[in-house]
Amino acid sequence: MLTLQNTRWFLLSVFVLAACSLGRPDETAPPTSTVFRLAQASLAAAPTRGFQAAPSRIPEPTPTLADADCIPGGEAPTAAHVIEAEVNYARRTVDVQHVIRMVNRTSDAFEQILLNIEPNRLPAAFTLVAASANQPLEMVEVIGRRMTLNLVEPLLPGCDIEIALSYSLTLPQISSGISGLIGYFGYSNRQLNLGHWLATPAVYRDGGWVTHDVTVIGEQLVSDIADWDVTLTVSDPPDNLVMAGPGTVTQEEDGRWRVLLEASRDFVVSFSPFFRRTATFTEQGVEVEIFTFDNAVVNTPAGPVDGAQQALEAAIQSLTMYADLYGEMSRNRFVIVQGDFPDGMEFTQMVFVSDQWFRTNPGTAESYLTIITVHEAAHQWWYARVGNDQALTPWLDEALATYSEYVFYEEFHPDLKEWWWNYRVASFVPPSYIGKRVDSTVYEFATVREYINAVYLRGALMLHECREALGTDAFFDWLRRYSEVGANRIVDADQFWMLLTDEQMELIRPIRQAFFNPLGG
Ligand SMILES: [Zn+2]
Repeated sequence: MLTLQNTRWFLLSVFVLAACSLGRPDETAPPTSTVFRLAQASLAAAPTRGFQAAPSRIPEPTPTLADADCIPGGEAPTAAHVIEAEVNYARRTVDVQHVIRMVNRTSDAFEQILLNIEPNRLPAAFTLVAASANQPLEMVEVIGRRMTLNLVEPLLPGCDIEIALSYSLTLPQISSGISGLIGYFGYSNRQLNLGHWLATPAVYRDGGWVTHDVTVIGEQLVSDIADWDVTLTVSDPPDNLVMAGPGTVTQEEDGRWRVLLEASRDFVVSFSPFFRRTATFTEQGVEVEIFTFDNAVVNTPAGPVDGAQQALEAAIQSLTMYADLYGEMSRNRFVIVQGDFPDGMEFTQMVFVSDQWFRTNPGTAESYLTIITVHEAAHQWWYARVGNDQALTPWLDEALATYSEYVFYEEFHPDLKEWWWNYRVASFVPPSYIGKRVDSTVYEFATVREYINAVYLRGALMLHECREALGTDAFFDWLRRYSEVGANRIVDADQFWMLLTDEQMELIRPIRQAFFNPLGG
């Protein structure tokens, strides 16, 4: 059990808790979120809320190493998380006790550490109760999604720190419209989704912490891989409550699960008392599971069709093919969840596919249900495996995931290749299209539609032209090497292009010029 009275821990109590006036989210400006400032008060101050949620697996703090013992470098994940989360399903709240052990794997000394607090992009969703560490902290400040911990002594290269946080989350109801896009953190009348709900260390690159401003378009998180040990306890769970989650899940008792997940950029779960689970295995032994609601079964002119079976089959086919093309998945499970919010959302080993695509499913592969399922499956390589800056170079994962849709149709539904180009791409970006560059940032768009057209769809067109210029074998060899080079890392566009020979670069030069041209022409 974690005892805050332990004198090796340096506790900060809540000093200022100033909530800004909070506007409703709208199309252009994210809401101002709650600001917290914690200044050092007393080394043995009582927390405003106990850390005593028992039985706890949160480790005793590890003494910091003497500087001489710190060994820079290393390939292991930079952070390990141990989390005890108490979920109140009826109230849609979560109390989190969270210990992060973080190693400075850079060659710079850290005077401060930045954590991303995604829930605090929303009004009144996040409350910081306490923050402490196994070395003195000068100040802890949370502004928007950024939590800054100022250290009294710098954290030298190779040294580690353990940070203990206590915070509460109040989930928002998933709304319609653009703010519903982040329904992976929220609840509906039949589902509670915890995606991007935990504090995560920001990535440190080129002498600074990478932490981007919030916008409602696209994603802005950049995350390194980390190890996760998460125990979730649902107090007073509704009957038949099911948890969908990644990693190795052990249900210890009714309403209590422990999940171990290694080398993952995120940690997501979804709860519902209404989930129906369907599962099968790929040839490589990956268990593919889908959690759907009753309305996944739709009536079509050809009779009733179960969208769960349709999405499951598409996932199995696509995962098997992507493993052949891009390298083994290196995970033994893949989970799909019918999400009560628009479109889809990728996480490591688990993805959401919108309820909308199940409801409107015509019962064939000519459907967004199939398109989005195989798109999210592709993100297991282009996001979960190979990381990129999702705010500044979103095309690196989105264009590859979208082009992977085409590769799926080419392989399993060759009669639908032209349909895919017309339905998915040309109807939004016809040859006469003029718009932003493929390599635009998420901040350059006024609407989600413009963003998808420029980055996803024209990105797929660009990759297809590259394939035609290089030849299919060389093209997929390139993507496979990119997947190998970028595995468990965060890469940038240069690292993608650099894998081509000078001769190949020359072949695709006009294509890059055309698609990276500001007029899009
Ligand atoms: Zn995507």
